[in-house]
Amino acid sequence: MTPELKDIYSDPEKHISVLTGAGISEESGIPTFRGPEGYWTIGSKNYHPQEMATYAMFQQYPYEVWRWYLYRLNACKNAKPNAGHFSVANMENELLDRFTLITQNVDNLHLEAGNSEQRTYQIHGNIFFMRCINECKMKLYPLPLELLSEYKDEEITAEKTKLLTCPDCGLATRPHVLWFDEYYDEQYFKYETAIRVAENSELLIIAGTSGATTLPNHIAAIVYNNKKTIIDINIEESPFTEMAKKSPNGLFLNMKCSEGLAKLTTNMKN
Ligand SMILES: [Zn+2]
Repeated sequence: MTPELKDIYSDPEKHISVLTGAGISEESGIPTFRGPEGYWTIGSKNYHPQEMATYAMFQQYPYEVWRWYLYRLNACKNAKPNAGHFSVANMENELLDRFTLITQNVDNLHLEAGNSEQRTYQIHGNIFFMRCINECKMKLYPLPLELLSEYKDEEITAEKTKLLTCPDCGLATRPHVLWFDEYYDEQYFKYETAIRVAENSELLIIAGTSGATTLPNHIAAIVYNNKKTIIDINIEESPFTEMAKKSPNGLFLNMKCSEGLAKLTTNMKN
């Protein structure tokens, strides 16, 4: 590692951003749901996660989509933040307003580890919240935990249906996540703020994401084009790896997020 990284870390004028994806949560036992574990059967047909997590599917089969989420939520409910999450939380504790966390993860583990809501942009939502389908108050409602499904085939009972209605207007609710056929916005997903943060970042640390979605790619491209530093931590290479290697003082740490973040923070501080 280069001494420049220490300079960035200790310079009160410089902003550091962290961008995280599924890789950091995998170490807490959360499946990525992009593989077979995310498949769902409706009638006699099998659907991929990329088909399930869409507004189109929700319009057609709202309760099937809810059942899928309630089952997924069960996998998140008992998961605990790991050393990687705690490294990121410690970084915020030290850097305060010089720090921003942008996460693709909807599992709430960063907040549980101690990152603050105001400096954490959950750009794909949070699975522990629901919204009114009519956006009547533009609010998020905590998902009642009685709704969680233990088993894949658990039905949405009349009682559960009642819990899935908007507390303000009584219409149906939907999971507070960004679906594949939806667009980022500022109101729920901090789109413009995330772009602004990228513009001001001296260092971008990317942990456990291969950049399959547009906003993370956009953020990395901004930092790269501004000739600022990118560090990519991942067990496999991705389009971010090349950017990191080519950026000034950039690095690719080919290791698990927990190990890479520990190594990096130790080096930046000492
Ligand atoms: Zn409502």
